[in-house]
Formats: sequence, C-alpha cells, structure tokens
Amino acid sequence: MSVVTKQHIVSWLQELATELKENREYLTKLDSDIGDADHGLNMNRGFEKVMEKLPMYENKCLGTIFKQTGMTLLSSVGGASGPLYGTFFLKAATSLNGKEEASIQELIAAMDDGVGGIVSRGRTKPEDKTMCDVWWPTMEAMHHAADHDKDLSEVIDLALHTAEEAMRATIPMQARKGRASYLGERSIGHQDPGATSSMLMIKALKKTLA
Ligand code: ADP
Ligand code: MG
Ligand code: MG
Repeated sequence: MSVVTKQHIVSWLQELATELKENREYLTKLDSDIGDADHGLNMNRGFEKVMEKLPMYENKCLGTIFKQTGMTLLSSVGGASGPLYGTFFLKAATSLNGKEEASIQELIAAMDDGVGGIVSRGRTKPEDKTMCDVWWPTMEAMHHAADHDKDLSEVIDLALHTAEEAMRATIPMQARKGRASYLGERSIGHQDPGATSSMLMIKALKKTLA
C-alpha cells in the first residue's frame, strides 16, 4: 500500500477518538501528576466533537477534513492542548487542499507542517518535556523510512516504535513549558501527558494503515 485515501484519513480520526476515549483516565492520571488533571478530559471532549461533526465534511477533500478538525479542536478544547492540536490539523490541511488522496511523502509533508505549527505556537525546544519531544523524532523516523523506499506499513511501524520510546524518554526530563514547568524539578520522573496523546495519534494511524 502506498496511497493514503480519504477513507484512511477519516478512519484515522475515528481510531484516534476511540484511543482517546479508552485512554481518558490514563491521560488524566498522567496530568494529575504534573498538571491539572484534565488532559484526558480535554482530548476526549475535543474528539467527541470532531466525531459529531465529521459526517458533515467527510466527503470533502483531505484539506477540508483536516481544517474542520482543527477548527473544532480550537473551539471545543480549552487548555494548552486544544490550540496546539488544533494548529496541527490547520497547518497540516494547507498542502492537502483539493486532494482526494495523498502519497506517503505528501502525508509526511503535511504532518511536518502540522508539527511546525505546534512548535511555533508553543515556542518549544527539544527536551522541554512536551508533545514535541514525541513529534520531532517520530517525524525524523518517518522521513528516514520513506527516503529508504519503505512501504507505508513499514514507515508507520517505525514511527510508532519511535513515538513510544520518545514518550517514555520524557520521564526523566524537567518541564520547561506549560503547567508542568511550574513544578520545576518535581516534574522529573513523570511521563508527559501530551507526549502520550501524541503517541496515541501515531498508534491510531498505525491501526488505520496496518
Ligand atoms: P493544560 O496544561 O492547559 O491543562 P492539557 O492538560 O490538555 O492542557 O495539555 C498539557 C500538555 O500540553 C502537556 O503535557 C504538554 O505536552 C503540552 N504542552 C503544554 N505547553 C506546551 C507548549 N508550549 N508546547 C508544546 N506542548 C505543550
Ligand atoms: Mg492539564
Ligand atoms: Mg487545564
């Protein structure tokens, strides 16, 4: 398989909504250790809204599907994560405008744009202990695999493996952004909630493309 269809993109969002529902308590528990115990609630609320609205635009182009997803997240999720994930989808939408399907390279380019949006909005640097600490190595792994002519399922296998390791690698980091940074050294020893939901995004993509 080498082409990402509209059905893939729609099912990615559906799988993600399911992952976020199943992991709601887990994400909230992680956020209760170093934040305000709402990350699971925030993400689940946002993607319940996305699922509610998806039927209105699931037949439109890939760009529209991502753009509407981003707008829904921006308007329905409070906290840091809503604007950040909302920006991811809005920025990822741009290059997919008018497209009914995408090559693996086009999907990766769109995700790069999305991550770029998170980084510029959140002003994050490596090892700040945020979701970006999952996105950077994951995108690098996807590029690496795609550049070596791996097929879609191999690219996504490597991406998930990398995302899981990167998520665990946030445990020893001291937070320098977001609420967790208020804890200073006490943020060390806990897995970042946003890094965890970002891994779930890759997990949902794998379920879709496997
Ligand atoms: P809030 O902290 O406002 O309650 P959430 O709990 O939903 O929002 O999300 C917290 C997550 O957001 C963190 O675990 C972290 O991964 C991510 N985050 C916070 N600030 C930033 C930032 N400036 N850049 C990137 N990610 C961030
Ligand atoms: Mg929180
Ligand atoms: Mg909050």
